[in-house]
Amino acid sequence: MNTRPRELNFNTGLAEYAVVDAVSRGRRYPEPPPSYRSEFQRDRDRIIHAAAFRRLEYKTQVFVNHEGDLFRTRLTHSIEVAQIARSIARALRLNEDLTEAIALAHDLGHTPFGHAGQDALNECMRAYGGFEHNLQSLRVVDKLEEKYADFPGLNLSFETREGILKHCSAKNAAALGDIGARFLNKQQPGLEAQLTNLADEIAYNSHDVDDGLRAGLIDIEQLRAIALFNDQYEEVRQRYPGLSQRRVIHEVVRRLINCQVIDLVQTSGALLRQHAPDDLEAVRTHPGALIDFSSEMRERNLELKRFLRSELYRHYRVHRMSVKALRVIRELFEAFFTDSRLLPREAQQQVAELRARDGESGQARAVADYIAGMTDRYAIKEHQRVYNPGELT
Ligand code: MG
Repeated sequence: MNTRPRELNFNTGLAEYAVVDAVSRGRRYPEPPPSYRSEFQRDRDRIIHAAAFRRLEYKTQVFVNHEGDLFRTRLTHSIEVAQIARSIARALRLNEDLTEAIALAHDLGHTPFGHAGQDALNECMRAYGGFEHNLQSLRVVDKLEEKYADFPGLNLSFETREGILKHCSAKNAAALGDIGARFLNKQQPGLEAQLTNLADEIAYNSHDVDDGLRAGLIDIEQLRAIALFNDQYEEVRQRYPGLSQRRVIHEVVRRLINCQVIDLVQTSGALLRQHAPDDLEAVRTHPGALIDFSSEMRERNLELKRFLRSELYRHYRVHRMSVKALRVIRELFEAFFTDSRLLPREAQQQVAELRARDGESGQARAVADYIAGMTDRYAIKEHQRVYNPGELT
C-alpha cells in the first residue's frame, strides 16, 4: 500500500540522466515504496542499521585497529567516501541518496586486516571459487544480513547493488545474472556508481597520506617529490609561514581532497555537456565512463598512488602486520574447514546448509563468510581461543 504523500518529490533539480526512483530497476523482492523517503534513502538507512556496517568500526584499511585511535577505520573511511561522493553528486545534479548508500556499503565485504586479510582468504579459497571483497560486499547485502522477515539480505535497489559491485570477473559476472550483465555487455553503471568509485580513490589517497604521516611511516620530505602533494604544500607554507606541522598537514590534506573533487566535477561536467546523455539508458550504453578526472589529474593521482604503494603499503612495519594477519586468517580457515564443530552454533548451521547444497565448496564458502565478517580484534581473539591451550573458550 502506497502511503507516500503526493507532494513529496525527491528528484527536484536532478539531471535527466540521474538515477531516480521512477527509472530504478527495483528490488529483487518487490516492496511498496517507503512513506516519506525515496527508495535510495531507504537503501542507505538499511545499510546503516546493518550489523556488517557496525563492524566496520573495528576493521582496518592499512593499519590494524588497535594500533591507535586516530587512524581511519573502514567505518570512518566509508563516511569520508560518502561525504566526498555526496558533494560531487550534488554539484553534478545526481542522486545524492544513492551515492551515499553506495559509499556506505562499498566496503561491507572486507575481511579483517585490510588487503592482507583479503589476500589470505582468497588464497584459502583458491580451490573453491576464490574470495573477492567486492563480491563479498554484494553477498553481505544480498544474503548474509539475515534480519528481515520477508526477504534474505537487505533487499536493496538494483542501482545500489550495481554500485557496490565495482568490478567483477567474467566468470563471476555470468553467475550473478542481471547485476553482472554489464561486465559481459561492456556497459557502464549509473553515474552515481561511477562517481562513488572515484570518491573512494580520492578519500583513501588523501587519508593514507594523513595516517601515514601520523604513524611516522612516511615524511613530508619524501612527499614533496610528489607533485600533487607538493603544490598544496607550497601553497600552505607560503600562505601560513610558521604554522604548526599538524595544522600544515591538515591544510594540505584538505586541499588534496578539494583539488581532486574540483577537477572531477569540472571534467565530468564537461563530458556530460559534450555527450549530453538523454537518460540513464544513454549513460549505460555510452562507450566509456562519463565521470572522470582530467588526464593531468589522473597522472598526478597515479604518481601519489605509486608512492603510497612503495613507501607506505610496503613499509616493513605494515608488512609485519600483514604477515601476522595472513597467519591468523590462514590458521582460522584451516581449523574451521577441517573441523566445523569448532565454530559457534550458528556458523555450524551455515556450514551444514551450504555443504548440503554445494558440497565442499559450499562448506568452504560458509567458513569464508564467517571469517570475512570478523573484526580485526575478534579474529585475533578467535585465533587465540582456537589455538592457545591457556585461553578460555
Ligand atoms: Mg573503500
